[in-house]
Amino acid sequence: TTSVVLFTRDLRLHDHPPLRAALDDSRAVVPLFVRDRAVDAAGYAAPNRLAFLADCLRSLDAGLRERAGRLIVRSGDLVEEVCAVVGEADADEVHMAADVSAHAHRREELLRAALEAQGCRLHVHDAVTTVLAPGSVTPASSDHFAVFTPYFRRWGERPVRNVLAAPRRVPVPDGVGSQPLPSRGDLPGLSPGLPAGGEEEARKRLTAWLRDGITGYEEHHDDLAGDATSRLSPYLHFGALSPVELVHRARRKGGPGAEAFVRQLAWRDFHHQVLSARPRAASLDYRTRHDRWRTGTEAEEDVAAWKDGRTGYPIVDAAMRQLRHEGWMHNRGRLLTASFLAKTLYVDWRVGARHFLDLLVDGDIANNQLNWQWAAGTGTDTRPHRVLNPTTQARRFDPDGAYVRRWVPELAGLEGRAVHEPWRLPGAERAAYDAYPDPIVDLAEGLDRFRRARGRD
Ligand code: FAD
Repeated sequence: TTSVVLFTRDLRLHDHPPLRAALDDSRAVVPLFVRDRAVDAAGYAAPNRLAFLADCLRSLDAGLRERAGRLIVRSGDLVEEVCAVVGEADADEVHMAADVSAHAHRREELLRAALEAQGCRLHVHDAVTTVLAPGSVTPASSDHFAVFTPYFRRWGERPVRNVLAAPRRVPVPDGVGSQPLPSRGDLPGLSPGLPAGGEEEARKRLTAWLRDGITGYEEHHDDLAGDATSRLSPYLHFGALSPVELVHRARRKGGPGAEAFVRQLAWRDFHHQVLSARPRAASLDYRTRHDRWRTGTEAEEDVAAWKDGRTGYPIVDAAMRQLRHEGWMHNRGRLLTASFLAKTLYVDWRVGARHFLDLLVDGDIANNQLNWQWAAGTGTDTRPHRVLNPTTQARRFDPDGAYVRRWVPELAGLEGRAVHEPWRLPGAERAAYDAYPDPIVDLAEGLDRFRRARGRD
């Protein structure tokens, strides 16, 4: 028999259950990636992620070639392309990873029906893109947990499947047409500080993280300037690393840093299982359906200032500029910039979530939309009335101001924490920094506006 392995966002050879199952069942395997037209049409093909994806596909192809195989790449309607490849290879089975978005669910159903009509079976594998399958950790009274803490308790008790070694050989049949591999090229709008993608790069970073970073994670993860998180999120998003393998290796390492790190991987699983159970969570408020977000010219100007990193709040601007420059932002930055937009400026969180998805190399429907809902106070597990004060956050998480000086060069001459409040400088001194704008909003007024608005709920 011949099997097709459809890669989606599981672009690796290590710990890959669909590939293992296909190799166990078949003489030959067609490793296939289809650039899905529907994802492009929905506006999710952001340059940063396309570039990273190109790196991942090249790395996957290189890994397959070392194993006597190659990657087949197609583009267009995913269902049509898979069916065409099944026809060309005369395959009996297709293996793929389960995924959680509404689009992924619909696509799987359509694919199953189309393949059955062709006499071919679709096998969908769990615990490939997440540690545990969505729907496998449930409370007694519902099909999913809506709050993290009880979810995490149950999640931690569940066994995690064993890690699978990368295959030694992947025999690919001749005669299946492939497009050339995409390359990073000169996509317009690419962030200059974008990391390199691909499984090989991912594994190097993982090794370095386990050796040098994870031990201090619990203590330092919120330190904006210290940059003490793993930065593995884009590799997890594209599946260049297996979350299952990460959990096993972190647990083997042990200690408070590793435990705190595993907890974050559980947050990732948590958001995935919420989205799987409630597909509309990606765009629909859970709790506060009566928000009357600000719109109109003034709000639009505020949004533009927020996106460009010129709100006059240095910590907000530093984080927004990091996002544009690297296609990535520190989690603490994501929290405080999201709170600033949705609460202090009182602009619809979806506007901010969209901007993040336009730039984030780890941009992910489950993690982005649901974290935005958490920060905006509209989600399942959230504190709807809590507003993060950017200046307090700056003093706590960038105590010496080093993060701001790194990203807001106009203020680099200000020492220590003075960099967080340039508006406090005496007149003549403030004038020396006039390239940097005054605050676009008074924090007390923003807070008051938000509280009055939310009071209506
Ligand atoms: P680490 O701190 O090293 O954590 C390890 C891994 O755990 C991460 O790579 C990630 O996969 C997972 N993780 C950590 N925190 C979270 C979390 N809060 N929710 C879910 N998973 C988590 N993460 C994304 O992967 N894609 C997104 O599009 C995204 N958008 C976000 C938007 C907002 C408004 C907020 C507040 C958070 C968002 N996050 C998103 C979660 C988190 O900020 C990033 O996963 C993290 O900053 C990535 O950096 P890291 O790999 O160094 O994380």
